[in-house]
Amino acid sequence: MSSISENLKKFNQELEGTPCKLVAVSKTKPVEMLQEAYDAGQRIFGENKVQELVDKNEVLPKDIQWHMIGHLQRNKVKYIAPFISLIHSIDSPRLLKEVQKRAEQNDRIIDVLLQIYIANEETKFGFDKEEVKNFLSSDEFQSMKNVRVVGVMGMATNTSDQSQVKSEFASLKSLFDDLKATFNHLDNIDLQEISMGMSGDYKIAVEEGSTMVRVGSAIFGARNYGKL
Ligand SMILES: *Cc1c(COP(=O)(O)O)cnc(C)c1O
Repeated sequence: MSSISENLKKFNQELEGTPCKLVAVSKTKPVEMLQEAYDAGQRIFGENKVQELVDKNEVLPKDIQWHMIGHLQRNKVKYIAPFISLIHSIDSPRLLKEVQKRAEQNDRIIDVLLQIYIANEETKFGFDKEEVKNFLSSDEFQSMKNVRVVGVMGMATNTSDQSQVKSEFASLKSLFDDLKATFNHLDNIDLQEISMGMSGDYKIAVEEGSTMVRVGSAIFGARNYGKL
């Protein structure tokens, strides 16, 4: 098995010349492994559990940019609001409203992505395409001064059918272009990021215009939930 630094080097080489940034998804992994990635130059880390994110932030270097990538419960937003760099997983107006409130209390503007439902699966969270347009058009959204929507995030169906994955990513890119043309003039919208692609499908995602791939197991090795 190759080391974390070798894996990172391989990804950085692969992404060189593309607009795509690497989010190292370190969920379930011990801080020693994150430190190893940090020492190899990695600065963006993605986590999907609030408590774990808070604990790791406390002990690791302060120039890490923490990204929340997993489903976020409203009652936990307050714990990450002081320091979170980007929330990928805004999946409802109520959640964004809470982020607005906590960002204001912390006197900061929090960057977020809207999670869009693109997969052909029941279990994935997110806005559907019509919903997102209605929401961005609303006075409620436009009055949120402490959040900035900087892009969209999506997860493709977990399938070996590459053409399906490709068309789901293409649909997210096309929605992004559409939203950008319609809404980018608003003060709290600055659309730049398309977060799509994981260990199994990042190559297709990059081809389809991803600007952020969220890669866990291909960097840190398989996760063993049983042991935690
Ligand atoms: C765990 C996770 C990833 C990374 O998955 P890998 O297959 O290990 O690369 C990416 N995005 C989200 C939302 C995740 O929860």
